[in-house]
Amino acid sequence: MPSPARTFDTEILTADAGGVARAVAFLRAGALVALPTETVYGLAADARNPEAVAAIYTAKGRPAENPLIVHVAGLDAAQALAELPPPAQALARAFWPGPLTLLAPLRADHGLAEAVTAGRSRVALRVPAHPLARAVLQAFGGPVAAPSANPSGRISPTRAAHVLAGLSGRIAAVLDGGACPVGLESTIVGFEGDAPVLLRAGGVSAEALAEALGTPLRAAAATGVLTAPGQLPSHYAPRAPLRLDVTTPAPGEIWIGFGPGCDDAVLSLSVTGDLSEAAARLFEVLHSADALGQPIAVAPVPEEGLGVAINDRLRRAAAPR
Ligand code: AMP
Ligand code: MG
Repeated sequence: MPSPARTFDTEILTADAGGVARAVAFLRAGALVALPTETVYGLAADARNPEAVAAIYTAKGRPAENPLIVHVAGLDAAQALAELPPPAQALARAFWPGPLTLLAPLRADHGLAEAVTAGRSRVALRVPAHPLARAVLQAFGGPVAAPSANPSGRISPTRAAHVLAGLSGRIAAVLDGGACPVGLESTIVGFEGDAPVLLRAGGVSAEALAEALGTPLRAAAATGVLTAPGQLPSHYAPRAPLRLDVTTPAPGEIWIGFGPGCDDAVLSLSVTGDLSEAAARLFEVLHSADALGQPIAVAPVPEEGLGVAINDRLRRAAAPR
């Protein structure tokens, strides 16, 4: 896709009432604003404004068939847009506000721009927990479409500086809320009939979902009916090649450690082996390693809890492109 014209003098908005008000004014005017959420920075636009939604795809270079998550202020606002089956309501009560996205059938009078769902009959909904995202959503008073605020396929942004490195000049503003506390994208759950299906691993672990539901979730691959498109094999990609499960790095590789015993690692996801810390640091560490311009090697991360989502992102970062 051609690079869009760099026409904005992207503003950096401060994390206060003035910054929130300016972000809301931009959204009302149909402009794009990057907002901090607890997962990653989102590239926000008025989800009811077709031009604003189209501008998200252009600014990111995002394929048109990759639909956007809609952010709302609470469960009532979500239910005004979609029919949430009972288990979806239970998950919403357990995890909203928070890093969980629910995919549910659109209501007839939803009012969203068609491109938000890429023409599909279901919409992905989330109530973010970050105080600045909440403040913007409450003051704006409508649904906000917001994919991650990075060029399509690149590493997700967990700081305002990451947003600017990828999108400066292409968006009106970024609201600077510091580092994102969860650091991984939301978990996506869809419903086949009423049965919950895990569509993307993310900031809420499958174990936590199973505990809230009283039963384990099926994985999307096991059903094949529901899909979350746009999850490409190569994604979150640093410029340099990346190898996984490395216990002995090769000469010249930047080694990213996890847990104790990685004394030679230049960077670490978590020195103590804490998966929440590793999730929060993952994209930041990848941005830092990428800036060094050498091949990257990552130590093994256990495939449990948040480790499932961390390994999912690492495998996509390592995939051939
Ligand atoms: P992100 O790029 O993190 O904002 O996540 C967006 C992802 O959510 C997409 O790539 C899809 O996998 C999924 N998604 C969003 N909206 C829909 C939808 N209407 N139907 C199916 N999947 C969706
Ligand atoms: Mg993304």
